[in-house]
Amino acid sequence: MAERRVVVVGGGVIGVCCAYFLAKEGADVILVERDEIGCGASFGNAGTIAAGHPPLNKPGRIRRSILDLLNPKSPLYIPLRWDPGLIRWLWTFRSFCTEQHLKASMGALAPLGHASLELFDSLVESEGLDCNYERAGYYEICRTDKGLAEAVHDAAMMRPHGFHPRKMRFDELREVEPAILDGVVGGVYFPEAATCDPHRFVLELADRSVRLGAQIETGRGVSEILSSGRSIQGVRFEDGEVIEADAVVLATGSYSSVLTKKFGLHLPVRAGKGYHRDLEVAEGGETLLSVACVLAETSVFCTPMRGFTRLAGTLEFSGVNHQMRPGRLKQLTAAAEVYLDGVREAVIRSEWCGLRPCTPDGIPYVGPVPGQSGLFVATGHAMLGLTLGPVTGKLIEEHVLRGGTSLPSEALEIQRGG
Ligand SMILES: Cc1cc2nc3c(=O)[nH]c(=O)nc-3n(C[C@H](O)[C@H](O)[C@H](O)COP(=O)(O)OP(=O)(O)OC[C@H]3O[C@@H](n4cnc5c(N)ncnc54)[C@H](O)[C@@H]3O)c2cc1C
Repeated sequence: MAERRVVVVGGGVIGVCCAYFLAKEGADVILVERDEIGCGASFGNAGTIAAGHPPLNKPGRIRRSILDLLNPKSPLYIPLRWDPGLIRWLWTFRSFCTEQHLKASMGALAPLGHASLELFDSLVESEGLDCNYERAGYYEICRTDKGLAEAVHDAAMMRPHGFHPRKMRFDELREVEPAILDGVVGGVYFPEAATCDPHRFVLELADRSVRLGAQIETGRGVSEILSSGRSIQGVRFEDGEVIEADAVVLATGSYSSVLTKKFGLHLPVRAGKGYHRDLEVAEGGETLLSVACVLAETSVFCTPMRGFTRLAGTLEFSGVNHQMRPGRLKQLTAAAEVYLDGVREAVIRSEWCGLRPCTPDGIPYVGPVPGQSGLFVATGHAMLGLTLGPVTGKLIEEHVLRGGTSLPSEALEIQRGG
């Protein structure tokens, strides 16, 4: 295979996975990141590898009253502002919140989830990635019968796709995780899921990509993708320097709609802000949690990391910015303290917000841009970017170097409507 020069733009989990698999197959890879590697959404997510789980679009996600969506205490919050593009986007998003679309998207994403889990296993082992990777599943814990019914429903939808979630009683959950408080009515265990420290995963894989020959340029943004006719020529940096390339992969997360505009491609990717609060138990105490849990009624993830526990979640459509609303951060603790012992007394170690790249139909865009030979997109992974990172990297490697993929990936095509 002739060596191809490939520029990957964006050093989040998606860009790094693309760079790794391309370099592994012998491409001449340059990974370009405007800031630092792994400093975007990939820095502080919940660290769950939630293969087979439903994407963002679920029936009822936007069925609640407008007042509820405008409430900053609601898990899904849309601050009031005039943004016709967002209103159109939400309308399209809502049209995909159907049972039929959910079934179709789970069918499309499940094989990719299985493949990604296998890739995680083999990457962590073969590359010796030091990222706190645990293949112990996680527990969805519920305080209401409604929450439990929904968790059981999601579990039933996953079974036909080769996942084995199991309903659990309160006493069984308490035995696994003593921190679970009275008031929890039951839950579901998802044994196939895994967890890791997401930032460490990205840094470690970036390091292995360099060992395979990839070059990494940080602190440099790409301002333009260069083309001649229908062929890609390379990229121009914000400082004016040009790099020639045979192919360009855009993995720019929530910033993805910017660089494709000149090709007439308007990627409907919207930033869905989420927060984390990392907690440590006071000196001399035990770890807050020994297993990963998600709190069903508020969708807050509680993931034990090395030396701290991460509370992560909430979804807010407030534009492309990193302005943190203190109330949203407090909500993470308020949500967790009614499920888990020790949260109230724990010490805050760090707080953060990040932007999930969200598509209207909840499915990422991964593949070639039609009509532009050499231009590829890998974005829009919303809540599943870590989960689907490795398989996305593999799919992009196959698209770029082989012209087609070994796994079914039609659902991820750029021009699929929506
Ligand atoms: C609170 C929260 C919890 C989450 N929990 C989970 C979870 O448990 N499991 C899961 O699978 N997913 C989770 N996610 C989602 C996951 O974090 C994202 O889907 C994923 O990080 C997206 O990765 P990315 O590489 O596309 O984007 P990013 O990580 O945002 O990376 C994009 C990069 O592109 C760079 N860039 C942009 N424009 C340019 C340019 N012009 N030139 C150069 N560089 C550029 C940016 O600086 C950035 O570093 C969560 C997200 C949040 C916010």
